[in-house]
Amino acid sequence: MSLNVKNYIRTIADFPHEGILFRDVTTLFADARGFRIAVDQLLAPYAGARIDKVVGLEARGFILGGAVAHQLSTGFVPIRKKGKLPGAVISQAYQLEYGEAVVEVHDDALKPGERVLIVDDLLATGGTAAAGISLCERLGAKVVGCAFVIDLPDLGGRRVLEGLGHEVHVLCG
Ligand code: IMP
Repeated sequence: MSLNVKNYIRTIADFPHEGILFRDVTTLFADARGFRIAVDQLLAPYAGARIDKVVGLEARGFILGGAVAHQLSTGFVPIRKKGKLPGAVISQAYQLEYGEAVVEVHDDALKPGERVLIVDDLLATGGTAAAGISLCERLGAKVVGCAFVIDLPDLGGRRVLEGLGHEVHVLCG
């Protein structure tokens, strides 16, 4: 198998709704070589940079972000969907195609001035990542990069995040 992470990702038609082509990274995670390549490539631009915390977006961002944090010897902070975190939180709403979603982070998870790397599996419209960035910034942290395995360029997420002044690192489209 080649070193291209794309070769380890499968596409499943009509999930979770008819007409959606779902990029399934469980096959990438299940393959020892594929998972290692993905983690190594995600963190490559940040090796040697000062990163204090890796922030993972629920849920696949936890799997990737945890591994990246371990490799970079940083702490890990989860951003979760509303109502999942046990302590005091701050919340951020964002627009979905139909309706609204809310993500949360513990209000003491990041300290002012901490430098964070945001990690998730896939960038689509950028709404989830932009909400995550907003939570980090509201706690006074500086987002030094946003790393994703997959970008769906037609959905414009990269433009959204770069428009907010953030560096975007993706492994494949
Ligand atoms: P966005 O907010 O539109 O950029 O959507 C990105 C979020 O939705 C990420 O947290 C992804 O995990 C999830 N997501 C959207 N489409 C897919 C997909 O095809 N495969 C896996 N995750 C997806």
